[in-house]
Amino acid sequence: MLLGAIADDFTGATDLCSMLVRGGMRTVQLIGVPGPDVPVPDVDAVVVALKSRTIPAGQAVEESLAALKWLQAAGARQYFFKYCSTFDSTERGNIGPVADALVNALDCGFALACPAFPTNARTVYLGYLFAGGSLLNESGMENHPLTPMTDANLVRVLSRQTEGTVGLVPFVTVNQGAQAIRDAMTQLKERGRRYAIVDAITDEHLIAIGEAAANHAMITGGSGVAMGLPANFRRQGLLSDAADPGALPMVAGASAVVAGSCSRATLAQLGFARNHLPVFEIDALATPDAAALSEAALAWASDKIGGKPVVIAASAPPEKVAALQASLGREQAGALVEDAVARIAEGLVARGVRKLVVAGGETSGSVVGRLGVRSLRIGGEIDPGVPWTLASGRGPDLMLALKSGNFGATDFFLKAFRVLEA
Ligand code: ADP
Repeated sequence: MLLGAIADDFTGATDLCSMLVRGGMRTVQLIGVPGPDVPVPDVDAVVVALKSRTIPAGQAVEESLAALKWLQAAGARQYFFKYCSTFDSTERGNIGPVADALVNALDCGFALACPAFPTNARTVYLGYLFAGGSLLNESGMENHPLTPMTDANLVRVLSRQTEGTVGLVPFVTVNQGAQAIRDAMTQLKERGRRYAIVDAITDEHLIAIGEAAANHAMITGGSGVAMGLPANFRRQGLLSDAADPGALPMVAGASAVVAGSCSRATLAQLGFARNHLPVFEIDALATPDAAALSEAALAWASDKIGGKPVVIAASAPPEKVAALQASLGREQAGALVEDAVARIAEGLVARGVRKLVVAGGETSGSVVGRLGVRSLRIGGEIDPGVPWTLASGRGPDLMLALKSGNFGATDFFLKAFRVLEA
């Protein structure tokens, strides 16, 4: 294993995995801190997906250190702490405390911090993070329910979260390339800085930053800054070009889609699928009972499984979602539907489905938990950010595509199965 990464949420982990596969690294995502008995997969990179972004800082530190320990025992050569490209965190953490703990455990004294991801319009200039053309604190992120970002200056933000001190590698330096960035980081480390926020506006900057950090024990950032890392391993002769890093073994079995996302993109994808595939909608308002909802859906699906992919959706437009929330409360409504969709996924697998698309971030978490999935080998992308994966765990191996709500083109639910046949 070359790279061992720890991600502070599930879809962020997949995002990083996809980036590494694109760069030519065979990659596996592990769900939660792996136990000592979890075998080390034969791949170039392992990304441990935690759910540590908003849990108490002490717990986030504990889980991250446990993940690090496993990755160290597995023989990783370099470590990566992945957080969101909008630096999602609270005043007290968890980026600073987790990074501090990892720097201490690795005894490396220094790490760069770069959340920039220009492809998604996240750029850092003079330490200020911009999201979609606005300063972070004017981008809507200032209103985030869990991690409101009210300060765009990442030197200040990280300073408030760490016991160490934070410096900056500014744009003028980054623009001069890898050697200049490397020198600037060395100077900051010598002056006692524990972190450097590194500016980046283009992919070229990210690649230069990656190159400059070739010998760093740990790198912290969004998935963007991982862009330059595969080339480092290739230069060192550790990573070969030959194999298709996203090649997955084919799994035989029936195909299905379950959807719990109510995003505009998912609703449009369901609208498109209705013209081509059998679609069943569960109505949680009429039957607010997860077991009964899943029984009805599975009874509908039973004689269709094995034919065209079956589609089962809880997804609904805002007024219907609001009605269920008014009746049950927001959290209760979400939990009920997630539970129903997870039971349906479990029932579909029990009935022979082995290729399953799940729409919705939270929904994916709940399905993966119910199915007892422990690891995802990352395959090729269906649409940007959504790869097919080979899921292994408690049950039979299956092909799983986890689509966060807003991702994917309108024909996603058809294309997903089409690309498997190609
Ligand atoms: P996204 O990735 O689009 O944000 P998520 O799965 O993360 O999707 O979130 C969607 C949430 O909406 C889930 O908690 C899901 O259970 C809930 N949900 C889905 N359908 C309905 C519905 N008809 N009424 C109320 N809540 C729903």
